[in-house]
Amino acid sequence: MNCKLCGLEKTLIKSHIIPEFMYQDLYNEDHRFYEFSVQDIVDGKKLKPFVQIGEFDKNILCKECDNERLGSLEKYGQKVLFGKNLKPEETPDCQNYELEGYEFSECSNVDYKKIKLFLLSILWRSHITDRPKFNSVNLGPHTDRIKEMLWNNEPGEELEYPITTTSFIRADYHYKDLILEPRRMRTKSGINSYIFSIGSFQFHFYVNSRDHKLPDFVNEMTLKKNNSMRTVHLKNGMEKALIKRLVE
Ligand SMILES: [Zn+2]
Repeated sequence: MNCKLCGLEKTLIKSHIIPEFMYQDLYNEDHRFYEFSVQDIVDGKKLKPFVQIGEFDKNILCKECDNERLGSLEKYGQKVLFGKNLKPEETPDCQNYELEGYEFSECSNVDYKKIKLFLLSILWRSHITDRPKFNSVNLGPHTDRIKEMLWNNEPGEELEYPITTTSFIRADYHYKDLILEPRRMRTKSGINSYIFSIGSFQFHFYVNSRDHKLPDFVNEMTLKKNNSMRTVHLKNGMEKALIKRLVE
């Protein structure tokens, strides 16, 4: 079979859709607790909206593309988002501030190219896999462009597939160890977007054509070429609304 990234006919390997490190605390958790608490939130419906650990696809990528090409991006994502094996020169420098009742972080020294391509690689893998948990992701005509960006190691302009980040890092969030199925949404102006809730983070991808008008906050909050990354910290009490929106 042909690898979906390099296009070569090669032996394909087990490739995780969401990198394994993002499930860091999942091994020890009792999923039943989450299932029951989600049932409470969505009026008793029995749902399992979770991406289980070990959700992989053995029909998409060769070893080199998985371990090296995308693997090197993953190593960077792990460092920045989870603070793993950070050298001083790679450490993000973060300042917190408050605006209209919300807390924000702005971190500098976050490599625009690496973090953007790392996050886009998750979106792209979710599209190319047939695994049912990722059915909602359909990049249509954007698939080839995103693949080309990953292949050429080229993150594009800030407003080409911008990504915004929210988090519950600073709140009392009960789902911090869980990865929810990605969901497709539409902005008021008709742009498709996908939200991935991974641990305490929510990554929001806007799959736009370049001439589409994006909401103003996306311009403000997306990853920046000056290597800064902004995060909105969601507040205590917002988790139910988020889960309900993502699950229903
Ligand atoms: Zn390959």
